[in-house]
Amino acid sequence: MGTEKRSYRVGVIKGDGIGPEIVSQAVRVLDRAAQAYGFSLEYVPMLMGGCSIDQYGIPLTQETIDKARSCDAVLMGSIGGDPKTSPWYQLEPSKRPEAGLLGIRKALGLFANLRFSVLYEDLKDACPLREDIAGEGIDFVIFRELTGGLYFGEKKTEVVDGEEKATDVLSYTESEIRRIAKKAFESAQLRRKKLTLVDKANVLESSRLWRKVVSQMAGNYPDVQVDYMYVDNAAMQLVRRPSQFDVVLTENMFGDILSDEASMVVGSIGMQPSASLAEGSFGLYEPSHGSAPDIAGKDAANPLATILSAACLLRYSLGETKAADAIERAVMGVLKQYRTKDLKADGDGTECVGTIRMGGLVADAIE
Ligand code: NAD
Repeated sequence: MGTEKRSYRVGVIKGDGIGPEIVSQAVRVLDRAAQAYGFSLEYVPMLMGGCSIDQYGIPLTQETIDKARSCDAVLMGSIGGDPKTSPWYQLEPSKRPEAGLLGIRKALGLFANLRFSVLYEDLKDACPLREDIAGEGIDFVIFRELTGGLYFGEKKTEVVDGEEKATDVLSYTESEIRRIAKKAFESAQLRRKKLTLVDKANVLESSRLWRKVVSQMAGNYPDVQVDYMYVDNAAMQLVRRPSQFDVVLTENMFGDILSDEASMVVGSIGMQPSASLAEGSFGLYEPSHGSAPDIAGKDAANPLATILSAACLLRYSLGETKAADAIERAVMGVLKQYRTKDLKADGDGTECVGTIRMGGLVADAIE
């Protein structure tokens, strides 16, 4: 009793471009964390994106979906090629690499997208904000609803009174709001216990429902402080005083826009992990950046966003919080002395290293 080793199945989609290089380093770090914290990981490789097109003619196969469903979580690199030169982009849109991503989100019911924005002390020069603003610290996560709202509502273009009229419907049900709000509240409980609902409740009926549902739920989480903010103000506050945010919860389109703004606030795209969560504990974890075909195969990619995505996988899907913390600490420690090219600034006193070396340094720094 109680001595059985914890073991998990982790799906691995290396993907295209720099994907295989950065995922290999993340797996190396995961292996070390598993060893140090007493659990085991079985990796299940699967294809998606351009490499799946090359092998099967389509970006996402049923086999990949079935394999993913048999796993506790999936770690992904990134997919896609250079749209100007890659033959994948001669195909019709539904057969291109990105269609695989939309397909897998749908097939696995990934309704909550999390983008983390953390300004690391040693990388504060990458932040475009004034020193006094950045100096207050930046560490927040945006929970963006991923499968509802304006992007998935009914759409039509018709001729009315002799002119074209286009309509996109923005609707949400209580249950769609409740399932992501629950995840956001639970995350806030594990963080600094503050949740900000971003909406446009002064003009949108759907936003008023978000407020109603979230304020009803707030009673179940008395330890979490809940704020409500209009999206236009939130766009301003993200650059005016980002330190005020901990967990930001919002609908699909607002989240789409704010999460890109949030990426800029902390500067380096090579450092930002993301997670897409389903009901229960299953999730797909990937860096926020793309497949960077311009630097693929050159040992020049920064693997840290993927390594930090692996830490999120441990925290959110496997519940291996200590191992997740250890990876994040290792990354912060390594950055004091070493940088990949994208993070390197002249005269910063650090050594410039490639993808493989960076992965090894982080793995070795896990305690
Ligand atoms: P990108 O994020 O791949 O690259 C933008 C710039 O950032 C490039 O100069 C690249 O070299 C650099 N960069 C990105 N990641 C880096 C890293 N880890 N280390 C160092 N430098 C890094 O965006 P893009 O060029 O617009 O897109 C390239 C391909 O990626 C396209 O096919 C696009 O559709 C795809 N893409 C995929 C995803 C995904 O898999 N979720 C997300 C975004 C873009």
